[in-house]
Amino acid sequence: MTTGRTTDSKRRQVVIIGSGFGGLFAAQRLKKADVDVTLIAKTTTHLFQPMLYQLATGIVAEGEIAPATRVVLEKQKNTRVLLGEVFDIDTENRVVRSQLLERVTDTPYDDLIVAAGADQSYFGNDQFAEYAPGMKTIDHALELRGRILGAFEQAELSHDPAEQAKLMTFVVVGAGPTGVEMAGQIAEMSDKTLRGAFRNIDPTQARVILLDAAPAVLAPFGPKLGGKATRRLEKLGVEIQLDAMVIDLDYDGLVVRDKDGTERRIESQCKVWSAGVQASGLGEILREKTGVELDRAGRVKVGPDLAVPGHPNVFVVGDMMAVDGVPGVAQGAIQGGRYAADAIKAEIKHGQTPDQRKPFKFFDKGSMATVSRFSAVMQVPIPGTKKKFESEGYFAWLGWLALHLVYLVGYRNRLNTLVNWFFAFTTRGRSQLAITEQQVYARSALKELSYLERLRLSQAERDGDTSAAAKIVDEEITTGTVPEDGASA
Ligand SMILES: Cc1cc2nc3c(=O)[nH]c(=O)nc-3n(C[C@H](O)[C@H](O)[C@H](O)COP(=O)(O)OP(=O)(O)OC[C@H]3O[C@@H](n4cnc5c(N)ncnc54)[C@H](O)[C@@H]3O)c2cc1C
Repeated sequence: MTTGRTTDSKRRQVVIIGSGFGGLFAAQRLKKADVDVTLIAKTTTHLFQPMLYQLATGIVAEGEIAPATRVVLEKQKNTRVLLGEVFDIDTENRVVRSQLLERVTDTPYDDLIVAAGADQSYFGNDQFAEYAPGMKTIDHALELRGRILGAFEQAELSHDPAEQAKLMTFVVVGAGPTGVEMAGQIAEMSDKTLRGAFRNIDPTQARVILLDAAPAVLAPFGPKLGGKATRRLEKLGVEIQLDAMVIDLDYDGLVVRDKDGTERRIESQCKVWSAGVQASGLGEILREKTGVELDRAGRVKVGPDLAVPGHPNVFVVGDMMAVDGVPGVAQGAIQGGRYAADAIKAEIKHGQTPDQRKPFKFFDKGSMATVSRFSAVMQVPIPGTKKKFESEGYFAWLGWLALHLVYLVGYRNRLNTLVNWFFAFTTRGRSQLAITEQQVYARSALKELSYLERLRLSQAERDGDTSAAAKIVDEEITTGTVPEDGASA
């Protein structure tokens, strides 16, 4: 393992962790500031998560919703981008430690903006992740695309009706915006895009189930819009099962407990998990180092200036911050990232002290969710009142398209997306239905590799060869083929 330190510069050092909405917008806000900015992220791209479901269902390609961060920032001369997973934040010595393969990098900071987002939460059942990927990363979405299309391919080869039914039953867990979007798109893909493409099966007979432990679809949008989304989904053939809690999940299906206590099993090979979020584990590191409190979802309870109490130059923004009235949405992260950057600039330019900072104020621009093509729901606060303007259907859907185009980064991405949307929404076709062996088999290949490593390890231990055993453990950590009970994969 090699260790390096990244700077000897005399300028003020701002380190940003994360290249999502919070991190990227904070970096861009510091473009003209007299500082060196280092943005460290474990992914090379700025991912536009709201369109992940379109990646999973073959409407857009990954490059269109995830431009390379270093290219987005290439003209911003005071900024550099480092790839690496941050595993330690030393708040005493003001150093961020990150790792890429075997290389550990120490990056000193004067100001730190932590914008590492959130992961999927399985509510203590992390073993579910193997059989029901979440929807947080490009890998998740591509894996899901592989699983959805792979299930149809397997069904085509089967002549057993029960097996075909299991393969053609898709269960989406979680009836929030992501679950609704996924269920709607799987239904449309089966019914329109894949209609007539198989000989032994009829994809239009696929069963799509959207289930949630809560009693409503799109609960944050209220009963009116939630009801409209429900009816639209039902029209598409999606089965909605509410008050239904997943209590077990395996390769072939899941067990659900209904409100009256009855337990039932649904046979389904392809499951999607969109039921909950848990803030990045970096929150826990900050808790250990600074004593800051976390909420139940692991979000950091920052002060009104988004800084960690007692550490005025450590800001936490986006999905990682716990601030009353600020939801975990892109606007919360964008505005939080910009606020932190402005606070740093004000300190440099005007000598503003932390106690002079005005509290962060979230400007709610409203929320939207698409249900299917030509159908979305939209809720926008009416300024000066506590009321919200609500809309659903075609105009809300047009609004959704326009807004998402505006926030996609890069002109070429917008243009490509527009072309793909035109194709997908005016015809039955989707241009991104390719799946690779890696998408479909990578998870099982990693599992097998891990199993083989375990065998080698126990053999070395049986032979009393401790140096060989230590070498295998080192290899596992480096290659990511950690044992099943360890983590990752
Ligand atoms: C499927 C889906 C659909 C969504 N739809 C909408 C929508 O329609 N409208 C809306 O407003 N919001 C939507 N959201 C929510 C929105 O995307 C998030 O609120 C927003 O992305 C949060 O921004 P962030 O910067 O906090 O985190 P993210 O955008 O998640 O970025 C986190 C960054 O941190 C990096 N990172 C994480 N851990 C580490 C580490 N240890 N070391 C280094 N880097 C690390 C990641 O690589 C990433 O670059 C959706 C989210 C999802 C998952």
